[in-house]
Amino acid sequence: MSAKTAGIHHITALAGDPQATVDFYAGVLGLRLVKVTVNFDAPDIYHFYFGDETGKPGTAMTFFPYQGAPRGRVGGGQVGVTTFVVPAGTLDFWEARLKKFGIPVERTERFGETFLRLADHDGLHLELVAREEGPESTWSFGGVPTDKAIKGFGGAVLYSLAPEQTLHVLENLLGLERVGASEDGQYVRLRGQADLGQIIDIRREPVPAGSGGAGTVHHIAWRAGSLPEQEGWRQRVSSAGFDVTPIVDRKYFTSIYFRERGGILFEIATDGPGFTVDEPVEALGQKLMLPAWLEPYREHIAANLQPFEVRVLDSTSPARRAGRGACPQAR
Ligand code: ZN
Repeated sequence: MSAKTAGIHHITALAGDPQATVDFYAGVLGLRLVKVTVNFDAPDIYHFYFGDETGKPGTAMTFFPYQGAPRGRVGGGQVGVTTFVVPAGTLDFWEARLKKFGIPVERTERFGETFLRLADHDGLHLELVAREEGPESTWSFGGVPTDKAIKGFGGAVLYSLAPEQTLHVLENLLGLERVGASEDGQYVRLRGQADLGQIIDIRREPVPAGSGGAGTVHHIAWRAGSLPEQEGWRQRVSSAGFDVTPIVDRKYFTSIYFRERGGILFEIATDGPGFTVDEPVEALGQKLMLPAWLEPYREHIAANLQPFEVRVLDSTSPARRAGRGACPQAR
């Protein structure tokens, strides 16, 4: 039986300084820090999840930040550019806001759309695109009103070491629909059925291999509707000849992982149970949350993590010091 993923579930990147990561994604981009936990496979490192008010699938940008992490190089075998979508007509607002924070932006075109290209504090490649599609965010922070706020992912640009093989997986295994090639022939566009995180552009020419580190994407996760669906995905991924992990409990979803032949690490994650499974909506992201199996080590884990706060940035100060309205980050 064939199946189709709705689109992107989350994208996970590597980062340096935790405070700088929070300042950029909450303070500048206005996303909500919806979960503070640790890398379940390496609990001495934070795992931050940013997203809309609840971090629903298609909005969750996640990081493993740690001070002094060596920089990586963006290249083949990675998500090359992470695309966020903002409401139609708001690109000028975003361009002005980013410039106010001293962040260089460049306008580019693809498939008849305008993109604002930028890099985060670690050099991670990002872009903003304005579209009608996708529900407006209900989260407002740091001077970004809800009618201008990032709605979630617009999609991603994939840099593959073997674009034909990656395309084959996206189309024939994940069930994305091929839309066509860009006017200049540089990209092929595919589309999933969700209204966020559904538009995937892939560079047609192989991109020289990147290397992992701060400022690069670690993996991209695709959506599975439910656990039985995920079991079906696991069967199909395995039958297609990929080395796929068992189903792993990530507390907020369950996951399987496999590396496609273009070198990009793919995950398939369930939509549920989501980030409200251990905290109410209004308290999301305010405390360090641990899965039951790490709870006995809380004191030790917390002592090794660098404190940080979610704060409103003052763009008039070159130091971007915290402005009024800063809220302390509980540990
Ligand atoms: Zn993941």
